[in-house]
Amino acid sequence: MSLEFRHIAHAYGEVRALEDISFTAPAGEITCLLGASGCGKSTLLGLAAGLLRVQQGEVTLGDEVLADAQRSPPPEARPVGLVFQDGALFPHMTLAANVAFGLPKARRGEADSWLAKVGLAGMGARYPHELSGGQQQRAALARAMAPEPRVLLMDEPFASVDIVLRRKLRRECRILLREAGATVVLVTHDPAEALDIADRIAVMEGGRIIQFGTPQELHHAPATASVGAIFSGAQIISGTRGAEGLDTPFGLWPLESLIGALPDAPAFDLLVQADGLVPVADGRGCSVRDVHPMGPRDRVLLQGADGAAITVETALPVDPDKTYSVLPDPNSVRAFARS
Ligand code: ADP
Ligand code: MG
Repeated sequence: MSLEFRHIAHAYGEVRALEDISFTAPAGEITCLLGASGCGKSTLLGLAAGLLRVQQGEVTLGDEVLADAQRSPPPEARPVGLVFQDGALFPHMTLAANVAFGLPKARRGEADSWLAKVGLAGMGARYPHELSGGQQQRAALARAMAPEPRVLLMDEPFASVDIVLRRKLRRECRILLREAGATVVLVTHDPAEALDIADRIAVMEGGRIIQFGTPQELHHAPATASVGAIFSGAQIISGTRGAEGLDTPFGLWPLESLIGALPDAPAFDLLVQADGLVPVADGRGCSVRDVHPMGPRDRVLLQGADGAAITVETALPVDPDKTYSVLPDPNSVRAFARS
């Protein structure tokens, strides 16, 4: 069952947190809300969960209105499961009791099998404080999934898990969620996490969605430079229209560097890929600040004349005592009119 947000706006007093948000989290898919702290992710999730009242617009589930300015059923009356950053298990209850808590009496015996599904087989008698952060988060996931809600809302669910476990846990979680067939909306500020787990990503900035799409769609046609910059190795540098191409702090770039045409503007945000850049030892003034070997390639940090920095990943040898310009591969740079 798909979860749809229609023209949602929200303010906390004078603070406008969300502006005209519309998108659909498709049934059985994982949709990530991705954006920096304060961009409105938790507010959006809270409106669907019933933690906040809808002020403007509506949230629908399938054919039914879940909440709008007139009706706001409490969280427990919505067919929605919630998972938060810190798991929020009941500390005085065993794991089995935690998982059984949301289940009807007849189904309470299923708690152990839900714990097994998240890799906590045989741990039902333990208390939360006897578990690692990652295990607690798994238990919180089991508790949210056990009642088999049609919708699962997750706010930074892996943020308190150590970095090493995090990737493993979220990949397992993705499989479990897909198998359960739940419609999932997951909040994260970490682009790598969104790309790792999401079927679709809503990229948010300042209370708005700037692009909604699959990871492939965002990669192939980013709406802004900042959307393109969620992918590893991508970076944004400034450039202006020059006589024969683009003037950048790292050299003059020919128009053949561009994917598509140059927008009609005097100044640009240029989206470039670290492995699509070539350092040229031509004495043009970019100094080498760092050369970091990373296996087959080096990661090189160069600094342009005006102090701007650019990261290049290259297999070519780079001499820290020389100065360089940086040249992009043909068809590798996207130009966006400077906002
Ligand atoms: P995110 O989850 O993306 O970090 P939030 O939805 O928590 O963002 O917050 C969005 C904006 O609303 C921020 O500017 C935040 O400071 C503000 N905000 C959130 N909750 C409250 C609140 N209870 N009272 C006042 N302002 C709030
Ligand atoms: Mg938040």
